[in-house]
Amino acid sequence: MNEIEYKIYIDGVIRRVESARLKVSDHHIVKIVAISKYSDASEIEKLYRIGQRAFGENKVQDLKEKAQKLEELPLEWHFVGNLQKNKINNLLDLNPALFHALDSLELAHELQKKLGAREMSLDALLQINSAKEESKHGVMPEDAAALYAQIQDECPNINLKGVMSIGAHSEDKTIIKKSFETTYAIYKELEGATICSMGMSGDFELAIECGSNMVRLGSIMFDK
Ligand SMILES: *Cc1c(COP(=O)(O)O)cnc(C)c1O
Repeated sequence: MNEIEYKIYIDGVIRRVESARLKVSDHHIVKIVAISKYSDASEIEKLYRIGQRAFGENKVQDLKEKAQKLEELPLEWHFVGNLQKNKINNLLDLNPALFHALDSLELAHELQKKLGAREMSLDALLQINSAKEESKHGVMPEDAAALYAQIQDECPNINLKGVMSIGAHSEDKTIIKKSFETTYAIYKELEGATICSMGMSGDFELAIECGSNMVRLGSIMFDK
């Protein structure tokens, strides 16, 4: 696709987000984070040129390389992947706008130690394993509210902004929907939470209809 064709294509994706959000309400605003993990710096720049600003990666090393290559551009970088303890310092060096995948109290404590030592803070979302899948990271739905409060209490340098979840791995739409509803129900009960990050290329409309206000779109945003 040339730039004009790509813009028309992306306008189509944005229209799909629009019609899903309008089913919720006129006031329901949804932010798109373009997940660039399968794309290189020049592809990110193409999407930037047609208006996208927020990008996300799931590996610290990839985030580092792409953010460095594109440092001249006013991009907002998100980190959406599982964070290993030995990569915490590398991630904090990059000062991401939002960490979507805080998935245990232990990781929160490790982050707090490093953040405290650097006198910096980090905006983060608690990842919820809403369909209780073996293969997925995240806290169990029944533990989420208490853990959220405990992290707020014990980790002053982590600013919890809400929750993140990956839709159930299923062909059955009702099962996926149920996993989004589980996450949204937790989100709604959290004091001060403003971000409910759920929905990917294959299920973002359903996620938005279930209350998501941040979608993480990878494959559908890039011209492959
Ligand atoms: C890769 C990834 C996405 C985007 O996936 P697509 O299906 O390509 O849209 C979203 N969230 C996380 C955590 C990811 O790792």
